[in-house]
Amino acid sequence: MIRDISRLTKSKFDLIVVGGGINGAAIANLAAACGATVALLEKGDFAQGTSSKSTKLLHGGIRYLENFEFDLVHESLRERFIQWQSVPYLVKPLPFVIPVYKNDTRPLWMMKLGVWLYDLLSGKYRMGQHRFLQVSEISALAPGINLDGLIGGVGYTDAQMDDARLCLENVLMAYNRGAVTVNYLEVENFIKDNNQRTIGVKVRNSLSGQQMDVFGSKLIVTAGPWADELIQKDLPHPVDRLRPTKGVHIVYRGEISSSAFLLQSRQDKRVFFVIPFKGNSLIGTTDTDYHESPDHVRVDEADIQYLLQEAGRVFPNIDFDRSKIISTFAGLRPLVADKGDPSRISRKHVVESSSSGIYYVMGGKYTTYRAIAEDAIIKALPHLASKLPYSRQYVLYGSGGSNEELKILSQRFEVPLDLIKYLQSIYGSRFEDVLNITRGNSNLKQKICSCSPAIGAQVIYAREVEMAQTPEDIIERRLGLSYLDCPTGDCRRSIEAIFKSLP
Ligand SMILES: Cc1cc2nc3c(=O)[nH]c(=O)nc-3n(C[C@H](O)[C@H](O)[C@H](O)COP(=O)(O)OP(=O)(O)OC[C@H]3O[C@@H](n4cnc5c(N)ncnc54)[C@H](O)[C@@H]3O)c2cc1C
Repeated sequence: MIRDISRLTKSKFDLIVVGGGINGAAIANLAAACGATVALLEKGDFAQGTSSKSTKLLHGGIRYLENFEFDLVHESLRERFIQWQSVPYLVKPLPFVIPVYKNDTRPLWMMKLGVWLYDLLSGKYRMGQHRFLQVSEISALAPGINLDGLIGGVGYTDAQMDDARLCLENVLMAYNRGAVTVNYLEVENFIKDNNQRTIGVKVRNSLSGQQMDVFGSKLIVTAGPWADELIQKDLPHPVDRLRPTKGVHIVYRGEISSSAFLLQSRQDKRVFFVIPFKGNSLIGTTDTDYHESPDHVRVDEADIQYLLQEAGRVFPNIDFDRSKIISTFAGLRPLVADKGDPSRISRKHVVESSSSGIYYVMGGKYTTYRAIAEDAIIKALPHLASKLPYSRQYVLYGSGGSNEELKILSQRFEVPLDLIKYLQSIYGSRFEDVLNITRGNSNLKQKICSCSPAIGAQVIYAREVEMAQTPEDIIERRLGLSYLDCPTGDCRRSIEAIFKSLP
């Protein structure tokens, strides 16, 4: 994927997509698959907004059942299954447990009904079978769990994914289908004709400062929590459409359980997760109203204390110590404005057109991104509707390579089979492209650090094929190294050194 900005000014596009999070990437991918000429413009790195700050679940959202959002849950369960089938190397089934205590707001019978209904709504898209759990079974799954008042629980299955890489897969696929995909290019304003219809965008290259105009017949804004900022540039009398809420996660050293836990908080009765994640535990999330610029979202001490206290209550044997936090991250849910408790606002998406002809995609869940993209295309480019791929054939890159084929490649490239499996779990069928980079330079087969299996060739691949512009893009989103416990900092130093050596 080459960052060729000159292609943006050569012709007028059928579609300009503003924002390279999951929704923008998927819309660009699907529109390009239908034969449209597409420009995808992202002001930072792809997925740098909410789409790399999620809980990394493709889930029906069992908790939305208590809001009676059965249609959203059913749609999400279907989409979860489609993604699992399409991108199995990035989407994996994950068993969940909900322990129930005597004084919990949501009683055991409600949880039993919930998981039963969840499986019923899954229908043919089911990923596992729900279970009713005894206290002894829960304690076997998480030996440190608080047994005081524990009366039982339930088990069900959802899916875990790599949010930043799934977004990147969509960008890469869009590019391969002919879309012009450019990161670090900010849309600063809209270009209107004499009738105040939008015909293009004024952009600024964040890396060089260069400004230019890009023209398109249709515009879709998928700016996530930044949507209101763009609406303000678009309309003379704008009204805020979003109610962004902040969600914070911490990555805690060590795996608390190999099952994920959905827990009920005592402080505000919300639910939160403790999830096995890359050998550590992902604890989150919070859900609080947010009123500042999305550019400045940050983790506050109160967010960390909330999560540590709530996790500590359920796992009292674990000494939840601040020094064992590997990293923290905060994201903004781009929820469509509504009154009431933030965690009860619907996660449904909307596609709205403005008087100047721009389509805005707002709200939604990561899980339903394919359906959101389809809906946006049907609304903004109805003539493409008949060309959309059949929903259960959402083609990204395949997994590639049976076990036997991997063994042969391991011998051919003289690398351990484990390394090939690791590369396959990140790149799917493209892992061989990464290995090909090591031909003629066996140093690139070496690990860049002791904290992960990542090798030098991946840094080059990220820079040359995956459009990484900074070492941070690689650490955070291409390789997800900030989630790992690195005592030496060698991975950052190696990446910076390889990066500097490249043209
Ligand atoms: C804490 C948290 C946990 C979540 N967990 C889950 C989960 O487990 N499962 C799930 O299904 N959903 C989850 N979600 C929801 C999900 O992450 C979001 O719905 C989804 O990522 C939104 O994607 P997006 O593309 O709309 O927005 P974003 O990912 O925010 O993308 C918008 C992009 O637009 C770019 N942009 C903004 N302004 C401009 C401009 N002027 N020019 C060019 N580009 C611009 C931004 O840089 C950004 O990259 C979670 C959300 C949060 C906050």
